[in-house]
Amino acid sequence: MDLNTVTEIRHPANADAITKWEKGYAWLAGGTWLFSEPQIDTHTLIDLDSLKWPSLRPSRDGLEIAATCKINELNQFVEKAPSEWSAVPLFRECCRSFLSSFKIWNSATVGGNICMSLPAGPMISLTGALEGVCELWPRGEKPRKAAVIDFITGNHVNILSPGELLRGIRLPASALKKIYAFRRFTLTQLGRSEVLIIGTKDPEKGDFLLTVTAATVRPIQLSFSDIPDADGLKRAIDDAVPFSLYLDDVHGSPEHRKHLTYYFTEQIRQELSSRNRGHA
Ligand SMILES: Cc1cc2nc3c(=O)[nH]c(=O)nc-3n(C[C@H](O)[C@H](O)[C@H](O)COP(=O)(O)OP(=O)(O)OC[C@H]3O[C@@H](n4cnc5c(N)ncnc54)[C@H](O)[C@@H]3O)c2cc1C
Repeated sequence: MDLNTVTEIRHPANADAITKWEKGYAWLAGGTWLFSEPQIDTHTLIDLDSLKWPSLRPSRDGLEIAATCKINELNQFVEKAPSEWSAVPLFRECCRSFLSSFKIWNSATVGGNICMSLPAGPMISLTGALEGVCELWPRGEKPRKAAVIDFITGNHVNILSPGELLRGIRLPASALKKIYAFRRFTLTQLGRSEVLIIGTKDPEKGDFLLTVTAATVRPIQLSFSDIPDADGLKRAIDDAVPFSLYLDDVHGSPEHRKHLTYYFTEQIRQELSSRNRGHA
């Protein structure tokens, strides 16, 4: 779509070049959302591509994902990842969890998806479940960090202040070495996620982390020192997710999302109870 209110596109070599943030500025990542609907309040796009951040930096401590990393690059990383990172195949599951996945793979970025903060943001599901921490660069202030789970506060709402930039997300090696179970439901084959739930378990310590996304207006994470029994898990979900947090939109009713949340979390509980290594 032509954005006829946009009169300037800037290509800074570094983010500090944008010192003063004006109303009407917008960071431009893959542009898959920015160019998909009118942006009548935007007059200047600031292209993040020109910052030339390396997309993926694996180390012994974990994986640094630049906000500008394309979905396709993350998808391809699965082939190159260290073999002890048993959770990496989850990247592929989540990269395939976009509405009409293939159309936006080569343009959309991980950071753009997280900053959109939509309930069905699969990069939120992925990086939240793998205990990701966002590095944030506010304008004119010191960088700060926030867990991905705390970054999103509502449907299309997050903690970014005006002009604040998401620099990247760090996934700790300890989370990448976990085993996982993944469940997703969509009304149509390449549809928007109605429910996307990921469970992870530390194969040595046994602790269990459950991340509920798409079903709820913001991600919900439940942490257990061991896998609970079915009733304990259901009670924990009831405590953490009041009915008002289940999303109501054309992709699913709150009642159906709640039903699927119980249904899938019980499947995940059973799957991870019986496994100590590898992935499904
Ligand atoms: C066909 C189609 C299907 C889609 N399916 C889905 C889906 O299933 N789930 C879903 O969540 N979304 C979906 N989207 C919406 C959108 O395309 C994705 O959320 C995508 O990941 C956005 O990434 P982008 O890099 O293209 O962001 P852009 O469109 O470039 O930017 C999105 C927003 O984030 C801001 N932004 C981007 N990067 C940063 C940064 N590093 N720091 C601060 N702000 C930043 C921009 O200013 C803008 O406000 C879909 C869109 C289309 C057209």
